[in-house]
Amino acid sequence: MNPDKESWVMRDNAALKKSYRFPFLIANEAEGVYLKGNDGKKYLDFTSGGQTSNLGHKHPAILTSVKEQMERTGFSSLGWVLNDTRIRLAEELKKIVPGKSEGYVGFCNTGSDATELSWRLAQDYTKRQMVICHFGCYHGQPSMGALALNTSPHGRKYGAPQVPGIFYVPYPYCYRCLFKSVYPDCNFTCLDFIEYQFESRVIPEEKVAAFFFEPVQVHGGVIPLPDGYLARLSEICQSRGILLVADEVTTGFGRTGKMFGVEHWDVDNDIIYFAKSIASGLSLGAIISNEGIMNNFQGGGTFSGNPIACAASLANIQTINEQGLLQHSHEMGEYLRKRLSELDSSLCTIGDIRGLGLLTGVELVKDGQKPANKETTQVIDRAANKGLLMFPAGVFQNVLRLCPPLIIKKNEIDTAIDIIEKALKT
Ligand code: PMP
Repeated sequence: MNPDKESWVMRDNAALKKSYRFPFLIANEAEGVYLKGNDGKKYLDFTSGGQTSNLGHKHPAILTSVKEQMERTGFSSLGWVLNDTRIRLAEELKKIVPGKSEGYVGFCNTGSDATELSWRLAQDYTKRQMVICHFGCYHGQPSMGALALNTSPHGRKYGAPQVPGIFYVPYPYCYRCLFKSVYPDCNFTCLDFIEYQFESRVIPEEKVAAFFFEPVQVHGGVIPLPDGYLARLSEICQSRGILLVADEVTTGFGRTGKMFGVEHWDVDNDIIYFAKSIASGLSLGAIISNEGIMNNFQGGGTFSGNPIACAASLANIQTINEQGLLQHSHEMGEYLRKRLSELDSSLCTIGDIRGLGLLTGVELVKDGQKPANKETTQVIDRAANKGLLMFPAGVFQNVLRLCPPLIIKKNEIDTAIDIIEKALKT
């Protein structure tokens, strides 16, 4: 280890508590699809800064918008004044959000905030208390409610949180179907199971306010909802007065090749919410729903909807549209998965490759379908050493999560593939 790095690692260990395992990299600079390490090397960031920066790091459009807004207003709280930038962003979100043009926007700061607020909105509107979510879901961490919804081992590191009234149901994880059914012939045994729970009164439907879902379950293993699932889930919820809540924190703003993940299926949601890449690098959260539901919106805290992040968000949306990044995300994602499907691994087996747009999961297994979680960590560490950063995902942490910025080029994907190929060799 170089002495400079050693001293930063020591200072980090002495000053910070972290719940994530960080790779060895110390990065104090970033640009586009790269992070620059203090070792002078460039690293391809296939995490997009923790999925916060769909346009890549330091995108000129974001820099300009932030600078201009800083010069115009600095920061102004939602509680004190109206602001043109914030209003324009709310109008724009209403315009682009699928199926909810008559809706209202409520701002907050993070994905966890948006989860909490959506939960509360659903409770206030339905006058019911309980919620349903999927095994393997992740809806946030710093707050008790969002944390309680998570069922990932990471989210439950310190035990299950004590929030009552949550039911967990299997996600349609077809590669590891709990019911040993085969999609599409199964006709969704997993949804039959949910209905059975209602019918047998294990879940008292008249007490359930909302069903939370991710269009692609990301922490759970980058698993897109199979076609047909959401339409039937929507019917199940609607017929019982349960609100369907789409968590687009990770899937929003072009990540899946459409502006929002739910646009892959023609289904309306009652509440939809965003964060992470909404402002491509700045903290902002937003919830959209119809007037009846949003009448109970109580606000997302002092910094929510701050004009600086709103300006960045407007620039983000404009850039995605002007530069054709939705189509690019779709095409590059298909290319990435095709290249991945040509790889061999002698370290373990590539069990499944799945994804939408530039959100891809590569599930690593051994001895049949046993999760190759140690090998996954090994691949991630080796790839990082060779200049490619990836997250793990999955309940068993045996999935490579690939989510490069939407501006990624073919030759950069080729570089990443070369690195992954080497990392998969014994
Ligand atoms: N929902 C999903 C689907 C997420 O992936 C995350 C963050 N990884 C959150 C909610 C929570 O967002 P935040 O970290 O901004 O609180």
